[in-house]
Amino acid sequence: MKWYKKLHWQIILGLILGLFWGLISALAGFNEFTLDFIKPFGTIFITLLKLIAVPLVLASLVAGVTSLNDTASLSRMGGKTVIIYLVTTVFAISIGLVAVNVIQPGKALPDETKTELQETYQGNVGEREEGAMKIQERRPLDFIVGIVPDNFFKSASENSNMLQVVFVAILLGLGIIKVGGKQAEILVGVFDSLNDVIIKIVDMIMKTAPYGVFALMAALIVDLAGDDLSRAIGLLRALGWYCLTVVIALLIHVFLVYASLFRFSSKMKLKDFFSAIRPAMLLGFSTSSSSATLPVTMERVENNLGVDEEVASFVLPIGATINMDGTSLYQAVAAVFIAQALGMDLTIMQQLIIVVTATLASIGAAGVPGAGIVMLVVVLQAIDVPVEGIALILGVDRILDMCRTTVNITGDAAVALTVASSEGKLGEPNLDD
Ligand code: ASP
Repeated sequence: MKWYKKLHWQIILGLILGLFWGLISALAGFNEFTLDFIKPFGTIFITLLKLIAVPLVLASLVAGVTSLNDTASLSRMGGKTVIIYLVTTVFAISIGLVAVNVIQPGKALPDETKTELQETYQGNVGEREEGAMKIQERRPLDFIVGIVPDNFFKSASENSNMLQVVFVAILLGLGIIKVGGKQAEILVGVFDSLNDVIIKIVDMIMKTAPYGVFALMAALIVDLAGDDLSRAIGLLRALGWYCLTVVIALLIHVFLVYASLFRFSSKMKLKDFFSAIRPAMLLGFSTSSSSATLPVTMERVENNLGVDEEVASFVLPIGATINMDGTSLYQAVAAVFIAQALGMDLTIMQQLIIVVTATLASIGAAGVPGAGIVMLVVVLQAIDVPVEGIALILGVDRILDMCRTTVNITGDAAVALTVASSEGKLGEPNLDD
């Protein structure tokens, strides 16, 4: 296949053109046009992906569970998945902590920039604090209680209730296995073909991805830059070291932790892994949402990475909700950066508290844009750093959100591959498109 016909190149082109469109629109002053006539197509694109997420998780997980030879493998897979998710998250936070302590970006922030940032973004901190307060009011086991829905239709009508959908799908799949025989065959057939149909629909939606990504990027630049592009660039420059620290640590995490994970668990080359899941990574980058990207992640992991459906349909929806290596790493860097900028030296104990709270905070964060910074409030409170310090980093958060979401998605796919390989459920990758 010619390179320009490959989906990921088309998406990259859409991304670059969208970026240019946004810049030109901010410079030439036609932001209103972009917001009125370009942005809606990006919104439709994301909405289509969200629309397909619940039916896809339900159909593919029921189909996956009913095709299992032994139901014991389900709990084995569950145990492995959660353990690998936790271990990679702790590694991510540790890498973030080492990077921010070595580079010390907070100490390089000039005093006048600090005052300016705090004055500009002070008003926006309250909203995040309120969001975090609501989450903190929960009791320790509320998380588990929340996985069991009292009404399936209510769970299916909210994409943020994905773990409830996973729970119902597993229950339904197990019920079908227990009934067995002719009666069960009908339902197995229905879910199997529903799953095939939905995967085809994901394929169809992905054909429009280059246009969707173009619109999303153009709108994002307009939203970020507004009418004052030079202010946005100035902000990036002032927080350059902080951004760089997050990005360097994210890259180290991907190339060190995930690469080692592959080396020990499968014969997959890192290059092939990236070729297979690139469209999902690019989509994570442009949407800043693991939840919206989930259908594409599932499609790529199954069809291109070669992970069996029963593993992908189980590991990925859980990952999109609880596994956020990029987010936890960013929270560690952000918390220490804020402390450094406010002239506070954190003790080893406080940094250990960051490891624990950032792990929990990333599990609690939803797979939507900006969720990570809301949960950062919890981390800051745990180490007694003033929450108002968030004002320092709010201006560049969306850009870092794009980067950390890409890593969150990459992490889910890497764990799916590892679990599949350890269960003997990894086929040949398909790297054609
Ligand atoms: N946007 C991230 C995600 O969807 C969550 C975050 O804000 O860090 O994975």
